[in-house]
Amino acid sequence: MTTPTTVEQMLAVARAAVTEVDPQQVSGMQRDGWLVLDVREADELSQGMIRGARHCSRGRLEMQLPQWLLDREQPLLLVCAQGLRSVLAAQTLQQLGYQQVCSLRGGMHAWQRAGLPQQLPATADNAGLSIAQQQRYARHLQLPQIAAAGQQRLLDSSVLVIGAGGLGSPAALYLAAAGVGRIGIVDDDRIELSNLQRQILHSTSMCGEMKTESARARLKQLNPEVQVDTHAVRLDEANVSTIITDAYDVVVDGSDNYATRYLVNRACVALDKPMVYAAVEGFVAQLAVFWPSAQADAPCYQCLFPQAGDRPSCSEAGVLGAVPGVAGVMQAIEAIKLCLRLPSVLTGKLLQINTLDTAFTLSGMRADANCEVCAGQRHSAARPHAARPHAARPHAARPRAERLR
Ligand SMILES: [Zn+2]
Repeated sequence: MTTPTTVEQMLAVARAAVTEVDPQQVSGMQRDGWLVLDVREADELSQGMIRGARHCSRGRLEMQLPQWLLDREQPLLLVCAQGLRSVLAAQTLQQLGYQQVCSLRGGMHAWQRAGLPQQLPATADNAGLSIAQQQRYARHLQLPQIAAAGQQRLLDSSVLVIGAGGLGSPAALYLAAAGVGRIGIVDDDRIELSNLQRQILHSTSMCGEMKTESARARLKQLNPEVQVDTHAVRLDEANVSTIITDAYDVVVDGSDNYATRYLVNRACVALDKPMVYAAVEGFVAQLAVFWPSAQADAPCYQCLFPQAGDRPSCSEAGVLGAVPGVAGVMQAIEAIKLCLRLPSVLTGKLLQINTLDTAFTLSGMRADANCEVCAGQRHSAARPHAARPHAARPHAARPRAERLR
């Protein structure tokens, strides 16, 4: 065959090599596992996309597609505006070894003429997310509460996790998976075999290693673009403010002793950081978000529990390994909501979970007007982005909550 010298000849050659399909065939192909790849330029996507389509512009196709689509046997249906760029692109992908590539005849114009359903991209430019990020966080991008702008906000957020144990493990894993851009881990312990029944950041082969290092390796393995800062120290009066103030947006308290909780609470109140608290014992967990400046009568940890208790620790009382799993995952959810500036229903509330009875109890709680930690902070103006609960607050007395370790 002679080398084509005009666009018409190039299209004729491409059409002889590439199967073209009609819009009505597309939904069936998607059910059969075909991936719709929209090869238009980013600024054309606001005209509407086929639901479930991924975007990679024609100009970057050969360079970028191999970075995120490793399987060259993945069937691909290419789409552009009129079906010209897509048929040429399909021919190129065939030459690169992609084995099943079709083109949508007539492109999005034919799709729209057929009145078939479309979706808009999260934003016209996807808020600067790379193709790999669009793929990694695709399920977030489908949620109106997150979308591209929210995902970008998560990538710009930072969360400090106190303790890489039973609570901190699931919390940190889900924060990393969600794309929280910087995660700090505070822990001065080494991994013991008895930790592994619940501390799912760590593995048997890491016994004896520092939990911070095990956590860093596991989180980077899960999501390499997350920055993990480790603090292999025991929190004390001298270092707590330095570590917490280190530009973290939210503090997740996964500590297992009263002294550290009081310390973290005082630092969080002083620095106006939301503290996502959880504690577990046996089959029971409790959670709250302490952030006195977020609303007028929101308490701090000290308001709820003015004095250290004498509850036994996990090592003394025992705990079902999955219970801190549930609580830690819920701490991650609250932290993510705070990063996204979504309302956190647990601000000023205490959630108690009894997994033996499968019972969830949410009670209101109020600040102690004479609290030595937060009384001076509580009445300050709420932060402009303070998360506020949707629901009206009930008239609540201090809950008769049994504090857990
Ligand atoms: Zn207080």
